[in-house]
Amino acid sequence: MNIKELDKKYVADTYARFPIEIVKGEGSKLYDDTGKEYIDMGTGIGVNIFGVGDREWVSAVTNQLNTLQHTSNLYYTEPCVNLAQILCEKTGAQKVFFSNSGAEANECAIKCARKYAADKKGAEYNKIITLNNSFHGRTITTLAATGQESFHKDFLPLTEGFLYADAGDFDGVKSLVENNKVAAIMIEVVQGEGGVVPLDKAFVKNIAELCESEDVLLIVDEVQTGNGRTGALYGYMKYDIIPDIVSTAKGLGGGLPIGATMFFPKAANVYVPGTHGSTFGGNPVSCAGAFNIIKRLDDAFLKSVEEKHDYIINELSDAEGVKGITGLGLMLGIETERDVNEVLKECQENGVLPIKAKNKIRLLPPLNIPFEDLEKAVKIIKNALRGA
Ligand SMILES: *Cc1c(COP(=O)(O)O)cnc(C)c1O
Repeated sequence: MNIKELDKKYVADTYARFPIEIVKGEGSKLYDDTGKEYIDMGTGIGVNIFGVGDREWVSAVTNQLNTLQHTSNLYYTEPCVNLAQILCEKTGAQKVFFSNSGAEANECAIKCARKYAADKKGAEYNKIITLNNSFHGRTITTLAATGQESFHKDFLPLTEGFLYADAGDFDGVKSLVENNKVAAIMIEVVQGEGGVVPLDKAFVKNIAELCESEDVLLIVDEVQTGNGRTGALYGYMKYDIIPDIVSTAKGLGGGLPIGATMFFPKAANVYVPGTHGSTFGGNPVSCAGAFNIIKRLDDAFLKSVEEKHDYIINELSDAEGVKGITGLGLMLGIETERDVNEVLKECQENGVLPIKAKNKIRLLPPLNIPFEDLEKAVKIIKNALRGA
């Protein structure tokens, strides 16, 4: 049996994979089992933000791997501290908790908000408001946070206490806060899985002000938007707000599993020993890689992300077959006139690998993709959008 048949036989059938087996990569190039080359416009869903095999990152990771791969959180380790420190210094957060995935980073944020409210106002202040069309993860609690019923069915009952409002409907959010005992409001500044839909700036600012005045914690889920993806270090920075909790994962590790939950002043001292934990969280190898990534996301680099954004928008927004483009930085969704699966298939056949978000073509290229690769990919995507 070949790999595809063996996968079907032995791997749990939760993924509708594309008929491609990736065997290796270099920078923004991926290669399949036949040796065919592709330009990577998906980065494993926004994970490999410095591409495949980035020298500096590999050396940070392998040095740590050759020194010490794991200790558990029973002991102090330097990579974990270094990463927490640089994240705090670059964001203004005061403390960080490390886990291993986006869903876990969100679980940590939700638990923190509930404990904050319970300590301060009483245990009945446990409601969490999220937005319709959001995505926050696949665990039972983060599914409850995910405001899309299609993800809920078959798994009921979910964790109690989640309320949903429409993105952009500030009156709706406000009325939920006024009529319920609310611990937190949780948003993605760009709804990624929901179709790469940025929230309106005034809506987000109003939510931040409401949270402040009602002493409700504002959680920003930056699992996808974080770590330079939007052209800012974290997406909230483009919205002129300061959240109480920021969760992130995906691009943070540059390809190794890691989640981080950052606590700003109100949330910084909620957790005390014994209230939360993780065996793998703060793993030295993942943290050494993530430190290298965060260190390199400086202003000059972020500016280059915006230049690539502008290039893609200029090339594609008026292109034939494009109904519209949404998103920030190098997190873009293209609404297509043609069937999106047809466009995707044609891109794949011609050596470019974008992904999908709802009914859009989603672009999440390496943030350091060389311009010549980007140009080549955009040309092929343009042809696929137009059709034969
Ligand atoms: C991907 C994603 C998650 C879930 O992350 P996992 O690492 O798959 O658990 C949560 N929130 C957002 C916004 C995401 O894009």
